[in-house]
Amino acid sequence: MNRLLSALAFAAHKHRDQRRKDAVASPYINHPIALANVLANEGDVDDERVLIAAVLHDTVEDTETSEQELIREFGQEIASIVLEVTDDQLLPTAERKRLQVEHAGTISRQAKLVKLADKICNLRDIAGSPPAGWSVERKREYFDWAKSVIDGLRGAHPLLEDIFDEAFRHRP
Ligand code: NDP
Ligand code: ZN
Repeated sequence: MNRLLSALAFAAHKHRDQRRKDAVASPYINHPIALANVLANEGDVDDERVLIAAVLHDTVEDTETSEQELIREFGQEIASIVLEVTDDQLLPTAERKRLQVEHAGTISRQAKLVKLADKICNLRDIAGSPPAGWSVERKREYFDWAKSVIDGLRGAHPLLEDIFDEAFRHRP
């Protein structure tokens, strides 16, 4: 519990000036908290490393956080899970999205659980509080891409995969 709370404080600080892309610009930290909540309370995941990695999952990609910093604060194992779900920001968007599909089956089981929760939460957000200005086509494109990623890791956690499929049923 103490380590999870320290990850929450760390992520809240790192994301403090960021907002989600929905119309009311929700605080960014709501999203990592939603992942951990889905994992623990819907997916029955009790692996502390997975819950902590979920809280931290967007720190390297979206804030000034380095791998070394995560290793120092949370250890090598958690840092590795976060890095496994971090896109290479130097690559063009289309390539990053293609690589997520290609790599989904090869990452660790812990990273697969974080990825499942991330896609579940993003589909729910796009269905319920979508990024401002997204057309129906763009929403559908995101749903279909997310499904290709998740189809690549099926078998990792059937319950979370069912929860993903339920979120997918709300495809616009
Ligand atoms: P973005 O990557 O720009 O946005 C999606 C990401 O935004 C999510 O993965 C999530 O990040 C984050 N996010 C923040 N707020 C929300 C929210 N409220 N709901 C859901 N996600 C949120 O978009 P795309 O994935 O669409 O990537 C760009 C692609 O879109 C390109 O491939 C481009 O070709 C295509 N495109 C399509 C258009 C169309 O009309 N069809 C128009 C323009 C571009 P995180 O996962 O980190 O939490
Ligand atoms: Zn995310």
